[in-house]
Amino acid sequence: MRIASVLTLLAVSGGLTLPLIASADDAEVNLYSARKEALIKPLLDRFTEDTGIEVNLVTGKADALLERLKSEGGNSPADLLVTVDAGNLYRAKEAGLTQAVESETLTKAVPATYRDPEGHWFGLSLRARPIMYATDRVDPEELSTYEALADERWHKRICIRSSSNVYNQSLVASIIAANGAEATEEWAQAIVANMARPPQGGDRDQIKAVAAGQCDIAIANTYYLAGMLKSDDPGALEPAQQVAVFWPNQSGAGDARGTHVNVSGATLLKSSRNQDAAVKLMEFLLTPKSQAWYADTNGEYPVLAGVGMSPVLAAWGEFEADDLDLVQLGQGNAEAVKLMDRAGWK
Ligand code: FE
Repeated sequence: MRIASVLTLLAVSGGLTLPLIASADDAEVNLYSARKEALIKPLLDRFTEDTGIEVNLVTGKADALLERLKSEGGNSPADLLVTVDAGNLYRAKEAGLTQAVESETLTKAVPATYRDPEGHWFGLSLRARPIMYATDRVDPEELSTYEALADERWHKRICIRSSSNVYNQSLVASIIAANGAEATEEWAQAIVANMARPPQGGDRDQIKAVAAGQCDIAIANTYYLAGMLKSDDPGALEPAQQVAVFWPNQSGAGDARGTHVNVSGATLLKSSRNQDAAVKLMEFLLTPKSQAWYADTNGEYPVLAGVGMSPVLAAWGEFEADDLDLVQLGQGNAEAVKLMDRAGWK
């Protein structure tokens, strides 16, 4: 930002030629991020060191940023949105806020299932939403698939957050894609019957409830458990040590499509006035070094192949991920929401 304003001033007063103004325009990127500052800022600083391009960071909740972009419209100063969940990336595209990027670097780095087919968004990291269980009360031999959690043996033993949360909407959309809406609605009814309590709190609260004995099973995103395991706060660390990860829907299970996964990702906004710099930043976020830092700091898996995972995640072992095209999580979202509502999933 500083570089841009100084150069623009020089151009006005000194009559500098156009190409310099054009490059000055590209000396900054305005980034709206649903990731907290600590989870992305050091990487942005490294980008600025490498390229001289300043990054102006605005952080906020995913829903709030989307609303802000809608109200700012074409006047938005934002170039890039980094947010979580393919459902949110899909919403941004549907709202007409995004534009396509043509970058061989990006399409090579991100597997096709983790990006928009028209290039409107690209996954930056991968999170899984497996089953987590109380190690003293559940034998992992009893577990197999998401579908099998509908069994009566789990009556009043499951904790899971509200259906208003996009993570559950995306999970249910993935089950609709696999089994159809009717079977998924029956499954959702059975899950509601098997809930230990009406949904409350976030994923961390479900893990804590399992540790506290309020329920035996939770469904939660992996990075929450990773964050708790890395915490110095005993209030987070101790509950996390009492639960284990079970990867559902692996080979040999009845429904062996793989465990549900989702992404955090980046999308170039239609309002962008610094497109070249914004694309450069997206490409930077997908270099091996950035991927290793970003995935480790966020407790997630890299999307770029060949980048190692952090020891906490490695300890849970490898797993097969559902290879569903994540665009379908957005496409199935409205149906997932209606279906959960009918099933009484608060
Ligand atoms: Fe989250």
